[in-house]
Amino acid sequence: MATCELISVGTELLLGDILNTDAQFLSKELAKMGISVMHQCTVGDNRDRLLSLLKEAAERSDIIILSGGLGPTPDDLTKEVSCEFFGKEMKLHEPSLDKIKEYFAAKGSVMAEINAKQAMLPEDCVIFPNNNGTAPGLAMEKDGTHILLLPGPPRELKPMFLECAVPYLKQFSDKTIISHNVRTFGIGESAMSELVTDLLDSQNPTVAPYAKDGEALLRVTAMAETEEEAENLCKPMLDEIGKRLGDYIYGIDYNCIEEAVVELLKENNMKIVTAESCTAGMISKRITDIPGASSVFECGFVTYANSIKHKILGVSEADLKEYGAVSKPVAEQMAKGALKLSGADIAVAVTGIAGPDSDSTEKPVGLSYIALADKDRVWVKELRTNRRDRDYNRYVNASNALNMARMYINKTIQG
Ligand code: ATP
Repeated sequence: MATCELISVGTELLLGDILNTDAQFLSKELAKMGISVMHQCTVGDNRDRLLSLLKEAAERSDIIILSGGLGPTPDDLTKEVSCEFFGKEMKLHEPSLDKIKEYFAAKGSVMAEINAKQAMLPEDCVIFPNNNGTAPGLAMEKDGTHILLLPGPPRELKPMFLECAVPYLKQFSDKTIISHNVRTFGIGESAMSELVTDLLDSQNPTVAPYAKDGEALLRVTAMAETEEEAENLCKPMLDEIGKRLGDYIYGIDYNCIEEAVVELLKENNMKIVTAESCTAGMISKRITDIPGASSVFECGFVTYANSIKHKILGVSEADLKEYGAVSKPVAEQMAKGALKLSGADIAVAVTGIAGPDSDSTEKPVGLSYIALADKDRVWVKELRTNRRDRDYNRYVNASNALNMARMYINKTIQG
């Protein structure tokens, strides 16, 4: 099986100025094709270091995919160094030059002379046209080693990879790998793993647990000759996991819990309203991130100050004083108040201490109350994350509110 290696070129990657999302994207896509990525390396815009890395990579990998450094400026060296490494001459490629000129003309400007460098291409290479920028990508081969060059900007790299590199790489892909992510909520990674311990030894499909942003997920991956065969290997495993994890599962291959909630609300013809204190709109944002949310999302109230919780949502001043803003009665009243003001079927509300420091009370950072109200009653969950991480606490509070909505619709809400 062909082995592949990724080289990300760019000093800004080494400085930590940007996250290497290109490598993440490429690794995922190559895995789907059954091409094994054995190494990922990052190197700055430096000729000597890139050249020595190419030498190393060519000794151990059949395919080397480089991203970045195809720009017009002198520090963009990827193509020049790759050609030097393969001993290939570059020549002006007129159709690519015309395409770059057209790109600028379409934006109402004229190509700067410096951009002509991007149309200098090695002979006998496969050119990957760039429909979203100026630098063409390419593939070239020498002595059985294939080098693919892709531009760094993700909006250029992704379509070019899918449209041009995938067809080129098909010659190396004799297997298909299919992965499905079983997304859960309300169970930790260890507890989830215990329920499926024996399944984690399975070889094809493999089953691997992951934890991310307060959620646990199981990834089921099968490798086979065809997509259909791989799916057939996954299916019984997914069914078995479904039986074991039950309602902890909010979906397979969903990107996030809000996707599941919006779908459930749609299916049940229901609308939701939010009342948020410490999450300050995060639940509303996450719901409305999902296309089509307008049919299920009524409105959101961000009531940060106590006076506003009272004035807008009708939270009792006496309760605010007696129990504090982060309390069960306040969460309850926020949800009820929001439901009353809107015409929605359910309301979710959150009040909590996101941290890193506590409020003026003795309450711990990470404490929050999350409420869900319908027209008849209200449920409240007390959550203690024991973490001082503000981002984490706010995200997890919002996720818990969304999960309560999911459980309400599924009729599995408790308390
Ligand atoms: P350009 O023609 O824009 O100069 P390029 O191919 O030379 O493209 P770079 O100069 O290396 O690419 O990077 C341009 C921009 O693309 C970076 O500033 C960054 O925003 C993005 N980028 C580059 N490499 C990566 C990467 N590995 N992951 C995510 N983004 C990246």
